[in-house]
Amino acid sequence: MSAIALYVHIPFCKKKCYYCDFNSYSGKQHLIEEYIGALKKEIKMYKHVIDGYKVSTIFFGGGTPSILEGDQIAIIMDTMGKYYDIEKDAEISIEANPGTLNYNKLKKYYAGGINRLSIGLQACQENLLRTLGRIHSFEDYSKNLNEAREAGFTNINTDLMFSLPGQREKDLEECLEKVVSLGIPHISAYSLIIEEGTLFGNWVRNKTIVLPDEEIQLKMYHNTIGYLKEKGYIHYEISNFAKPGFQCEHNMVYWHNKPYIGLGAGSHSYFNKKRFNNVGSIEKYMDLVSNKKIPIENEIDVSIRDEISETMFLGLRLTEGISIKEFIERFNISPFEIYEKQIKKFSTQGLLEYDKTHIRLTQKGIDLSNIVFRDMLLD
Ligand code: SF4
Repeated sequence: MSAIALYVHIPFCKKKCYYCDFNSYSGKQHLIEEYIGALKKEIKMYKHVIDGYKVSTIFFGGGTPSILEGDQIAIIMDTMGKYYDIEKDAEISIEANPGTLNYNKLKKYYAGGINRLSIGLQACQENLLRTLGRIHSFEDYSKNLNEAREAGFTNINTDLMFSLPGQREKDLEECLEKVVSLGIPHISAYSLIIEEGTLFGNWVRNKTIVLPDEEIQLKMYHNTIGYLKEKGYIHYEISNFAKPGFQCEHNMVYWHNKPYIGLGAGSHSYFNKKRFNNVGSIEKYMDLVSNKKIPIENEIDVSIRDEISETMFLGLRLTEGISIKEFIERFNISPFEIYEKQIKKFSTQGLLEYDKTHIRLTQKGIDLSNIVFRDMLLD
């Protein structure tokens, strides 16, 4: 039986962070109950679509999924359990923000089947958290972490950010040390991306905030890799680090370019050689679903050339790289045949390397990954 991953989007946040361009809304919590009702209907709509598939991973993302009460998550989980065939040991993650968690909620999440917690800490210093517009302190994070462990969670990720305005190298070092000393088995460390249309986008343009210069940003990234490797973490994806056995299985589905179904407002899916996404507006989503209409807004066919390109640049995000054998099994052709020119060019430039089993980016290639990815797009 083939495996499928599920993503459930919870688009509510207590407050919008200043850098965020995700499909998330503050001040709409009064819609949560109705939204859960719509999700239940959408889950049912997909029953016939994923009949014959085993659900291997589920990921509640947002927004702030942990804004939901334990019982509300349990209702969504029960509905999925009723209509889908979920593997017994499926990885089931929830993104959670300090400031929305407590012991009772976490206990109910765990009892409801959630077995992986991804906590958005982002930074450890109060001034940086305020700059980002986060609603929590480092103390909130460490309190919630203790509560999560008491509730039974062992598979825990912490999200951190670097290249922040006003962030010094030593702030990041201190933060990594704190998180590592707390025994977190998975750390995601993302460089801040300035998105148009966010407050940060405006503030960078009018110089209200200033980012560390590029050299410092790269140094922060390299220091993060060096430090976490030294502490026993595997640097398995450009921005992700895990103790052995704690790699995120759900995200591996994306990086291996395997199918997944997204549920909820603005969620994305890749299924049956098509990519499609739901309407982003919470109200429109609920309206369509309650009128028994599929809430999909866009759908595109994925040609074989698209699939090859995507498999290449998603797979190259993994430090182990692309498995040559799996590529040949999937596409019936060797990656060396399709990408002869690019592989030659980037290996000569020291951005790419290969052996008998894999093609991967070098550290220099990771630093310049956008250049490599661009060239992997087939016309
Ligand atoms: S909590 Fe996450 S999704 Fe919500 S506004 Fe902040 S960054 Fe965006």
